[in-house]
Parts: sequence; C-alpha cells; structure tokens
Amino acid sequence: MKIKENLSLIKDKLNKNVILVAVSKTKPVKDLLEAYNAGQRIFGENKIQEMVSKWEVMPKDVKWHMIGHVQRNKVKYMAPFVDYIHAVDSIRLLGEIQKQAEKNNRQIKCLIQIRIAKEETKFGILPHELELVLESSKSYNNILIEGLMGMASFTKDKNQIRSEFKLLKSIYDKYQSFKILSMGMSGDYSIAIEEGSNMIRVGSKIFGERFY
Ligand SMILES: *Cc1c(COP(=O)(O)O)cnc(C)c1O
Repeated sequence: MKIKENLSLIKDKLNKNVILVAVSKTKPVKDLLEAYNAGQRIFGENKIQEMVSKWEVMPKDVKWHMIGHVQRNKVKYMAPFVDYIHAVDSIRLLGEIQKQAEKNNRQIKCLIQIRIAKEETKFGILPHELELVLESSKSYNNILIEGLMGMASFTKDKNQIRSEFKLLKSIYDKYQSFKILSMGMSGDYSIAIEEGSNMIRVGSKIFGERFY
C-alpha cells in the first residue's frame, strides 16, 4: 500500500482552504492508521455501524464524517462523536439529529445534500426545497448547518460534471451563512475545486480500489 504517498500526492496539489476527507469505507483499520500516521485526521465513512467500530479503536483526535445516506433510527449510535453529517436530506432526519445531539449535549455539524446529478438518484433534496429545510431547522440549537454537499453524475462527460458542480456552487453562494461546500471525489475533485469546492471526499485515490 502506498497510502502515505497517495495522500501527499493529493495534498501537495490542494490549496490550504480545501479540507480533505479521507474516505475509508470498507478499508481495514490498519489502512486508516497508515493515513493517520501520515498526518490525516479527518475520515469519512458511509455506514454508521462501520464508523462506530472504527471510532472505538482509532485515536480519539480523529474527526469522523458520515458521508452516506443516514437512517433516522441509527443516528443515536454516532451522535456521541460524529463531527459532520454530509448527506442530510430531510426535515425529519434533522429533527432526529437535533434530538440525539441534545441528548449528548453537543453540536453536530450538518451539510444538506442537494440532488444535482442529472441521472436518477434517490438521495438529496431538490434545490427549491432548501429554503424550507433551513427554515424548519432554525430552532435546532444542537445542529449547525454549515453548508451543502452534492455528488455529480457518474459520467465521463467532464462538461456535465462541471455544470452540476456549478449549479451547487450557485446555490451555496446565495447563503451568507454557509462555509462548507462538500463536492468532489477521486474522479472529479480537481473539477470540483475549480468550481469552488472547499471540502473533497476522496477514497480510492488514497486507499486504493474498493472490491466490495
Ligand atoms: C465512497 C464515497 C466517496 C469517495 O469515493 P471515491 O471515488 O473512492 O473517492 C465520496 N463521497 C461519497 C458520498 C461516497 O459514498
């Protein structure tokens, strides 16, 4: 494994303002430790149970980002420690995050996932629904809605990817209160950064291909 080398190849190209989330889903703890020992502190997982297991054994200064779809009944398992939840896509989910964050007497940072891909995807709210989601969560004192997250279409068409990122950036720019724009993965993070991303979620370019 060349995790350390992969990390520095990516980080050397990044501006200081871009936060790198190392997406470690499906990868064993020894791989996460290799990244940790190379200085990486922010890890992204897409399954709550897997993230909890890794949190239990990894050093405590790791910041955990839940980047996958979240089922409401599982929020309680990560509420004691999760730093960011990227893919918030409903008012009911925000309500549950608020409830569990309050129980743990902490604040959880959330990003609202916007559906920007042209292809059929189940996840994310539509741009016009954002206002209502923000309005509904105004009284939620244990949630910080720090920005937006989006995934571009799985396509080789770079122009399409770019236009989807542009769309998300234009929505992001309408709100003074946002500070995080989470967009870009292994295959498209350079385009995402050119279009204004300041948080990229990179897995396979760091840890190698995933086989399951
Ligand atoms: C898996 C995943 C990533 C990372 O994907 P790579 O292509 O391996 O970089 C980023 N974001 C989300 C939401 C993911 O599920």
